[in-house]
Amino acid sequence: MREQLLHLLFPHVCLVCQKLLLPDEEYCCASCMEEFEPFRTSSEAEDVLRQTVVSHFGEHFLFERGWCRYQFHKKSALQQVLHAMKYEGLFNLGKSFGRQLGEWMLSGGDIGDIGCIVPVPLHHLKKTERSYNQSEKIAEGLAQSLRQPVRSDLLVRKRYTVSQTGLSAEARKKNSEGAFLAAKCVRGCHVLLVDDVVTTGSTLAAAAQALRESGAEKVSLAALAVAVKE
Ligand SMILES: [Zn+2]
Repeated sequence: MREQLLHLLFPHVCLVCQKLLLPDEEYCCASCMEEFEPFRTSSEAEDVLRQTVVSHFGEHFLFERGWCRYQFHKKSALQQVLHAMKYEGLFNLGKSFGRQLGEWMLSGGDIGDIGCIVPVPLHHLKKTERSYNQSEKIAEGLAQSLRQPVRSDLLVRKRYTVSQTGLSAEARKKNSEGAFLAAKCVRGCHVLLVDDVVTTGSTLAAAAQALRESGAEKVSLAALAVAVKE
């Protein structure tokens, strides 16, 4: 908390180690960024994402394509940075991560016929509390790179769900089931669903199901990071 407050007051300080940033560094210094663990290739990331989802949902939650930039470990430099992005008002950081994720997606080859980018929504009460939705900021960054529109209006969270942190995989699944409602105009569309960190995939699975029930033809996933087994 103290670090993030410092960053708001002194934006030229690294979020993780608090050293002064160089002019070409943003939020995080180069040596702290080296501690992030990016996937080497997009297919490696896609495999991990599929394994995560399949291990919790079986084969019936199928997604078209999946992209993910980093491996996520607890207590890592990346966790510190993503926490600041989510809770401490650093929404431009979300945008910047989203832009980088989009560039990385494009550098990995054809991304298919994605027609719109849909962030996982927060319940409106939670959004009021936090003032912004981090997934929406990531989606805005992605939109700049992929040149596709963000359609935050296509998916709403109809139930106020408790925080997933600390919940078991089974409890997460229950907590998310039926929490979303998608607009009928997703019919026939290839939707890119966006979240910040994938833990068990329960949120994405519930959101993807709502999109499919409203007629989305394909649902692909993009996340900044996926939690890997410690
Ligand atoms: Zn640093």
